[in-house]
Amino acid sequence: MAIARVAMPIAAWQLFDYWIPDGLAIARGEVVRAHLGSQRRIGVVIAIDPRSEFGDRVQPIEAMADVPRLPDEIMALAQFVSDYYQAPPGLAYALATPPLAARRKPSSPTPVPRAPREGSASHALNDAQRRALATIGAAAPRRSPTLLFGVTGSGKTDVYLAAAREAIARGGQVLLLVPEINLTPQLEQRVEDALPGVRAVTLHSGLAAGARRENWNAAASGAAQLVLATRLGVFVPLPSLALIVVDEEHDDSFKQQDGVRYHARDLALWRARRRDVPIVLGSATPSLETWTRARAARYARADLAERADARARVPTVRFVPVRGSGARDGVSTPLWDALAARLARGEQSLVFVNRRGYAPSLKCSACGWEAECARCAARLVVHRDPDRLRCHHCAHARPLPRACPECGNVDLAPLGFGTQRLEQAIGATFPAARIVRVDRDTTRSRDAFSTVRRQVEDHDVDILIGTQMLAKGHDFPRLTLVGVLGADNALYSADFRATERLAALLMQVAGRAGRADRPGEVIVQTDFAGHGVYRALAAHDYAAFADELVAERRAAQLPPASRVALLVAEAHAREDVDRFLDTAFACAGDLRASGDGVDVFPPVPASLARRRGFERGHVLAQSVKRSALHAFLPRWREAIAVRASARVRWTLDVDPISF
Ligand code: ADP
Ligand code: ZN
Ligand code: ZN
Repeated sequence: MAIARVAMPIAAWQLFDYWIPDGLAIARGEVVRAHLGSQRRIGVVIAIDPRSEFGDRVQPIEAMADVPRLPDEIMALAQFVSDYYQAPPGLAYALATPPLAARRKPSSPTPVPRAPREGSASHALNDAQRRALATIGAAAPRRSPTLLFGVTGSGKTDVYLAAAREAIARGGQVLLLVPEINLTPQLEQRVEDALPGVRAVTLHSGLAAGARRENWNAAASGAAQLVLATRLGVFVPLPSLALIVVDEEHDDSFKQQDGVRYHARDLALWRARRRDVPIVLGSATPSLETWTRARAARYARADLAERADARARVPTVRFVPVRGSGARDGVSTPLWDALAARLARGEQSLVFVNRRGYAPSLKCSACGWEAECARCAARLVVHRDPDRLRCHHCAHARPLPRACPECGNVDLAPLGFGTQRLEQAIGATFPAARIVRVDRDTTRSRDAFSTVRRQVEDHDVDILIGTQMLAKGHDFPRLTLVGVLGADNALYSADFRATERLAALLMQVAGRAGRADRPGEVIVQTDFAGHGVYRALAAHDYAAFADELVAERRAAQLPPASRVALLVAEAHAREDVDRFLDTAFACAGDLRASGDGVDVFPPVPASLARRRGFERGHVLAQSVKRSALHAFLPRWREAIAVRASARVRWTLDVDPISF
């Protein structure tokens, strides 16, 4: 009796054998139901074998799930994810498992795709855009990805859509990966306008189960011609795949931060190579990984150096000091004046501060006590409406104390400025101004973003106050002023990617100002105006800054000059974490005796040393040669696994985006 070897969705390294009952036609790639212990689970068949080493102790496959068999490409992708990211195979294959039908439904006839028409709503491409389109086309036969390096507002989207139109006209499918769909509600509309008659579907975690299943099926059957998706969409089968686009390729949200820590952009590159289809990575602020490859001519590169709207000019950038400048409520005099001038002219302003809540901490003026989370090594954030102290790393919330728990002093002062506090201060200064705050607290509902966008478009808003959510691809034509507060915080960060991220963020926020005919102005409050990141912003020159950062990383042997994997561990007791990491570090020493070019650094606490009651730490493994690191990792993981204690949760984060 034949045996199916199945990847089950649990954190185990082995596969599971089941016998195949008569009448079930089971092949590799089939999704099946079977028992694991007492639980019924969904697994993916990896192989068929004549017999099992477990003999007749194995259980039967119970049923086939009512979904299409996974094609070879997706099976290979899941295996690659397991191998490359050191992830248990069952969890890797689970990422590729189709959304299951709740119960069998009569299948609806697949709509017949129509040929795309030339869209009236789309622009004729300008010269730079046409050159970019040609570069993408010319790169394809050389199997080279293309970096579309275009400043904010340069019309990258129109280039993607033009390339998509060509691919679809040839009968192909297009995968368009974006960081977060709810942040760019207008993108779906732009796709529809530019590609009328094209069947486009979306895939993201916010979709209801039924819609997700339907859209997945449309993609996998070839009926959907364009798939607009967040990172999870990189696993969907696309039988006629002809083009992949990764928009905002530098965005951190392409990297999954728990479970299987894959990077959707990197998997998209893998798929493009395997399927031999063109891939476009678009950004105004490319990741340094992509940047160095383009510099080394491993990627083709197309630049859009100007904004697409000929009337739009780049904004002027001004730096104003914070310290000793007599700022009121965290806002400097020049920024107050600039806000007042915009209000007088009926123009819109955006004030950007990357902290939600009222104030980042609550402090006792007498003894220096600060409110901290009991479960995390972090300060509690002051929130208003309702008044609470909240932890931004766990769900902990509690009422504001009346007095200092250490010394009884009743003079507790909120320290620093969050979006709520700015909203209050700016509202008090300009009582007639219409102010809208945009942060995670105000955008919990599904269509909150579309509402804000409509308010801005209808000119129902004078001043927007918000976090980085406001930095992403919105197009607000009447916005002529951007104020940036608190950006210097990133310069103190221990995270090696902090300035790269800050540069990307500032370029994006600055790109919001003056998109149409009105000139824009950016005012950055900083005490370090000479820092490279601010000079790059003022000169509108990300390229020079990226080169500078790459040189720094090379000197420090940090990515992209090296490859890194992080062993991340957490446990309730610090001593358990320390003992585990010491052991893992020692194992690495034994394994590396052969001198293989991998460096492993002694254990250190994580930058957030305790989270949700778990003590955290890590060990970094690094090599300038990817092959060396990846030869080392599986051996290291196996050595760690046999010594691991049940009290410690651990995982390997390959190509971590921060440490
Ligand atoms: P990006 O994605 O590069 O930030 P967008 O694609 O959002 O830029 O384009 C910015 C604005 O320029 C949009 O309003 C878009 O409609 C407009 N636009 C794009 N291409 C052209 C063009 N060739 N002519 C005129 N306007 C254009
Ligand atoms: Zn006190
Ligand atoms: Zn907490």
